[in-house]
Amino acid sequence: MKKVLFLSLVCILNCEGKMSQRQAPQSDGYFERRQKMVEQQIVARGVSDECVIAAMRSLPRERFVPSAYSDRAYEDYPLPIGHNQTISQPYIVAYMTELLQLDGAEKVLEIGTGSGYQAAVLGECAAAVYSIEIVTPLCNESRELLADLGYENVHVRCGDGYDGWPEEAPFDAIIVTAAPVSVPQKLIEQLANNGRMIVPVGRFVQNLMLITKDESGRIAEEKLIAVRFVPMTRGD
Ligand code: SAH
Repeated sequence: MKKVLFLSLVCILNCEGKMSQRQAPQSDGYFERRQKMVEQQIVARGVSDECVIAAMRSLPRERFVPSAYSDRAYEDYPLPIGHNQTISQPYIVAYMTELLQLDGAEKVLEIGTGSGYQAAVLGECAAAVYSIEIVTPLCNESRELLADLGYENVHVRCGDGYDGWPEEAPFDAIIVTAAPVSVPQKLIEQLANNGRMIVPVGRFVQNLMLITKDESGRIAEEKLIAVRFVPMTRGD
């Protein structure tokens, strides 16, 4: 009990300044919609990871979509972000992040930065995030927005993520948000022992796959749900 109290106190002292920059003000026009999104689309559907829920309650999702769509930023579907790409449906972001079972200490690789929203959720729930985006303008915009929101622990690289980010490997968790036809071998190699990777696989019909490595490096695969992501370009 004492330990819990002490830890919360440390967090109150240390975390508030850090969060205030990122959190949207409670009085902004989106506050109600943001809470409703989390209650109805995320908690009601069974996501219970507290960090994911807290991150999505506070992140200004309207800043991650083009201004023409800011009014729809909290709706239950993906939205276009230009260059034929999309920001994922909020529930999918929550579901995939929860599956990574982050406890705050991890180094995470994301392939497909897109708007940067998923990277921001990861930035709240992991120690460091390395995210790669192949469309240069999207890459630059999301890097700028993440820096503006204060995410010093999120690193965005422009380029093809098919071969991962070998200089920073291994990663405790890997999340792929564009669908390859089969799981890129290099990504499996860059997953740390006891690591978890979540990746949509397939061309027309895609399945979300959870790939885990045990403490001796043995790999296991589990097919989860049918999903629809933009294809991973090149490298297939
Ligand atoms: N995680 C994003 C979702 C973006 S959609 C978000 O929260 O908004 C998937 C993204 O993957 C697109 O922006 C697309 O350009 C990118 N992508 C596709 N193939 C890629 C590749 N080989 N390497 C890196 N990014 C890729």
